[in-house]
Amino acid sequence: MIETLLIANRGEIACRVIRTARAMGIRTVAVHSAADAGALHVRLADAAVAIGPAPARESYLVGERIIAAARESGAQAIHPGYGFLSENAAFAQNVIDAGLIWVGPDPASITAMGLKDAAKRLMAKAGVPVTPGYIGENQDPAVLAGEAAQIGYPVLIKAVAGGGGKGMRLVEDPAQFADALASCQREAASSFGNAHVLIEKYISSPRHIEVQVFGDAHGNVVHLFERDCSLQRRHQKVIEEAPAPGMNAETRAALCAAAVRAAQAVAYRGAGTIEFIADGSGPLSADRIWFMEMNTRLQVEHPVTEAVTGIDLVEWQLRVAAGEPIPLTQDRITLNGHAVEARLYAEDPAAGFLPSVGPIEHLRLPQSGRVDSGVAEGDRVSPYYDPMLAKLIHHAPTRTAAFAGLAQMAAAVQCWPVRTNAPFLTRALADGDVIAGRIDTGLVGQRGDAWAARVAPGEALLQDVAARVCAAAKAGPPPHLPGWRLNAAPAPVIVRLDDGEQVRAVTPCYKTGSSVQGHPRGYLASEQGATWLIQPWRPAGIGDEEGAGAVHAPMPGLVTAVMVAAGERVGKGQTLLTLEAMKMEQAIKSPIEGVVAELPVSAGQQVGADALLIRVEKDEA
Ligand code: ADP
Repeated sequence: MIETLLIANRGEIACRVIRTARAMGIRTVAVHSAADAGALHVRLADAAVAIGPAPARESYLVGERIIAAARESGAQAIHPGYGFLSENAAFAQNVIDAGLIWVGPDPASITAMGLKDAAKRLMAKAGVPVTPGYIGENQDPAVLAGEAAQIGYPVLIKAVAGGGGKGMRLVEDPAQFADALASCQREAASSFGNAHVLIEKYISSPRHIEVQVFGDAHGNVVHLFERDCSLQRRHQKVIEEAPAPGMNAETRAALCAAAVRAAQAVAYRGAGTIEFIADGSGPLSADRIWFMEMNTRLQVEHPVTEAVTGIDLVEWQLRVAAGEPIPLTQDRITLNGHAVEARLYAEDPAAGFLPSVGPIEHLRLPQSGRVDSGVAEGDRVSPYYDPMLAKLIHHAPTRTAAFAGLAQMAAAVQCWPVRTNAPFLTRALADGDVIAGRIDTGLVGQRGDAWAARVAPGEALLQDVAARVCAAAKAGPPPHLPGWRLNAAPAPVIVRLDDGEQVRAVTPCYKTGSSVQGHPRGYLASEQGATWLIQPWRPAGIGDEEGAGAVHAPMPGLVTAVMVAAGERVGKGQTLLTLEAMKMEQAIKSPIEGVVAELPVSAGQQVGADALLIRVEKDEA
């Protein structure tokens, strides 16, 4: 067995591999870039080796440094995780040539599945159904246009060397074919150094269904059933589940048998995934599911398969890499219940899914379900790598229960000030079509804006914060909050949210069970996967010792009356004007004695939060 394992990766997958290796008594070695010196995977591993500066090109993608790190740390094996060098056949070969164990397939299997056209040809030969289309060598535009016409529109032009959703063009009208072809070829040449394309029939209402396979060095190949990964945003999977909704036993048997044939055709060893595209416009049936590609590594979404089969796939990977046979025969691998996973990203869905980087001051991950995390509170989200923070997985006897459980997990996420997609996931998991299993790869695109909209804290949560503001104020000096009165019935408290700097007036009311915690600058309150910093709002100028007599609007509102005029002498506490906001009228009083120096507003005027209402100057005379 392997004694020391180097993990050539970072984040959640490095942490996840370390967990199983440790359980198996294997010593672990992390590698890290300069940006990751203090990262969770480095803290969890038994040893760590620095491999270069922050950019992945200069660290996680430099094969020689990783092999040198393995030598230096006494590792006998390298687990590549996913991404980075995991599907790099040359790196796999170098690992083997260095006398190390490569925890992955034979480099020849990676190469065989590397180009889409070669892989499709190989699969067709092995009797695996492939998407109807053209995979020939002839790349003459007229020939390709003729093939497209024969396939029937709409068609998809795909770069044979493409990946990550790049180098693909959907063509719906023959008149657009020539332009789409030229643009696809240009992108393919510049991104992949290979302009060759293939043409496929475009499947309408496509569902992404994939089969987990496993092979060993003794010629055994088994499958571990299917996953459905149709909930994708821009070809990136967001929510994955096992088994696929609506899958019947007959279709499953045909699909899984095809996947096993596919793996056998490349003498596959280790964990792999055969991706299929299914026509989701009707019930699933074997004659409407086609091979798309093979991923020759462990997938991000492998935990849903682990949940429904009870198998630790990383353990199997390590055993098979060490030369052991697959621990179970096909008939002993069974499907139990339903599991669903969501990818938790450091990003802001309401701002176009912009990555959200920086220190994570506050982090609470769900207490229920399985959480595979790559970060802990206090860690920093770096702009250099994929912004995935963690994966949330829920397993239950039924699909409905699994989705409900995962929705609860997503809603329980608290992360601040880094924003996450947890509110987006919470809404997606509660969507009627998602719950009913009416999913295809277009659903997120159609529904995404609604799921991505900014969440606002509910009134009850704000009331709880307001109650805490009052309680804290009673223990110390009274806050300068308009509306706060000692020994009076709870009057509205004005709070300010860090989210777009909103200001709200709330009636204090303590609520048990809401997620509110003290913070040096106010309160952190969480709900539906979102977290806000909420501060008692002190209108500028009021109570300000420096005597700045400027009074700003505590919240957006309507100036209902102005009682004074510029140049007028006023006393401290005198009502200067009234403002109506949040359905309550507020008297704006002079903070000091003096003369009205500035009065930029008049009755009937609408003002924004923080707008200058009036400025009183000390009367020097
Ligand atoms: P990549 O290697 O770039 O990930 P794939 O060939 O795996 O490209 O396809 C990525 C996604 O594009 C699939 O998950 C599916 O949503 C969509 N897709 C691929 N082929 C087709 C097709 N023939 N018809 C409809 N959609 C397709």
